[in-house]
Amino acid sequence: MNKTRDKNSNFCCRNFIGGEWQGGSSEILNVNPSDLSDIIGPVALADRAMVDEAVAAASHGAEVWATSTPQQRFDVLDGIGTEILSRREELGKLLSREEGKTLPEGIGEVTRAGNIFKFYAGEALRSEGGRLDSLRPGVEVDIRREPEGVIALITPWNFPIAIPAWKTAPALAYGNAVILKPSEIAPASANALAEIIARSGLPEGVFNLLHGRGDDVGAALVAHSGVNAVSFTGSQKIGRKIAAVCGREMKKVQLEMGGKNPLVVLDDADIDRAVSCAIDGAFFSAGQRCTASSRLIVTEGIYGKFVSATTEAMGKIRIGHALEAGTQIGPLSSQMQMDKFNGYLGRAREEGAKLAFGGPEPAISYKGYYVTPVLLTDTDNDSRINREEVFGPLASVIRVADYETALQTANDSLYGLCAGICTASLARAADFKNRVQAGMVMVNLPTAGVDYHVPFGGSKESSFGSREQGRPAIEFYTKLKTAYTAP
Ligand code: NAD
Repeated sequence: MNKTRDKNSNFCCRNFIGGEWQGGSSEILNVNPSDLSDIIGPVALADRAMVDEAVAAASHGAEVWATSTPQQRFDVLDGIGTEILSRREELGKLLSREEGKTLPEGIGEVTRAGNIFKFYAGEALRSEGGRLDSLRPGVEVDIRREPEGVIALITPWNFPIAIPAWKTAPALAYGNAVILKPSEIAPASANALAEIIARSGLPEGVFNLLHGRGDDVGAALVAHSGVNAVSFTGSQKIGRKIAAVCGREMKKVQLEMGGKNPLVVLDDADIDRAVSCAIDGAFFSAGQRCTASSRLIVTEGIYGKFVSATTEAMGKIRIGHALEAGTQIGPLSSQMQMDKFNGYLGRAREEGAKLAFGGPEPAISYKGYYVTPVLLTDTDNDSRINREEVFGPLASVIRVADYETALQTANDSLYGLCAGICTASLARAADFKNRVQAGMVMVNLPTAGVDYHVPFGGSKESSFGSREQGRPAIEFYTKLKTAYTAP
């Protein structure tokens, strides 16, 4: 270890390698997007030498942890889950302060992270395997699962504790060592998780944390020959780069990426429910959810009513500081997100989109990355605003003639993460569930908001590799071995 690195400063985020907290070779500031004068703290960024150190520590950790018993894995994961849940308010506050989602959303996300550790604690006790008779007399075949080894986990800023949790918990439950590289935009929640994991009783090197820029530390981790598998959540652009490196190096890879999620509203929908699904799915968490509904595909008979009821409801949304009581939508997470949002809005209007709601910046007494949610009309599904992910509180209403056109429009996208429908018809709902091209489907529910105990992921360019979360997570974090025994 490099002893010259500062280990005792008041950084909000440091690196954890082989059981030791370390500083870095450069730093950035973690700033509250609700109030830019509130500095959460400096973040110590790792360098490439520290990537080598972390991989060496994790290789050792992987050997030790692969032989741990199901009881040891249960105890560690259950203990981590217990501490997260008991500190949910404090951690939720930290999360909302650095990411900008409202405090109830922040506490909800921390609760999810704690429950995920509890879920995989149980899964560690239920390790799968099988025994079959061989085709040869007297020979037995057993099929077992083994850990993959050293896994790099690369995560985005929009779920800064839940995503690190839903990758780390199954990785540890199935006997792997991990190196977590959270987003440099909201790293303190992952750092707090790492502090909890650091005192959970895991052997040294089993869990490691590196802070750093994606094109530096992230890229070095992905390419490192000592990393056996990579689980990534983030944009499609970076996902493609990572897939190319992993393909070349023949590394197992799992990618969870963006969406352009449709919410279909049919003539027979309950209008209040449809509007509430649209408001929640499109605008809550400032639209910064991969499952956000950004295309509201509405049939002619309900179109006018839907647009006017949605704009009316948008006028009542309270935008403000994420930690203030009553705030329904906080700020965007960064200047980069704000520039992206404004860029897409400007281009959409140049291309002829009409502004049904939105426009001026909201009047907020703090300096932060605040925007007013936007509802566009008069766009078609081919326009750029309906093809690319904005990742902000912006949705277009696309008018269609009937259910069949709505379904075709919903499917006409590169992405296929989540799709929703609001209808009173069970037959239409059943047909939609069958024919829509998405990994997740919601009937009379917002497209965003999922359970932690079932698989999560998409189709087409939203996801690549095996599913995350729920029991299927075992596919990514283990490999199969088939053993034959003769008497
Ligand atoms: P991003 O792709 O910019 O960054 C994600 C992570 O990758 C960060 O940790 C970043 O530092 C790292 N990274 C960047 N370049 C890298 C490289 N060359 N090599 C290795 N790592 C690199 O994404 P973001 O802006 O942090 O997150 C927003 C995106 O995440 C959106 O597209 C959203 O839809 C997606 N997302 C998807 C899911 C899902 O489960 N499908 C969930 C949340 C967010």
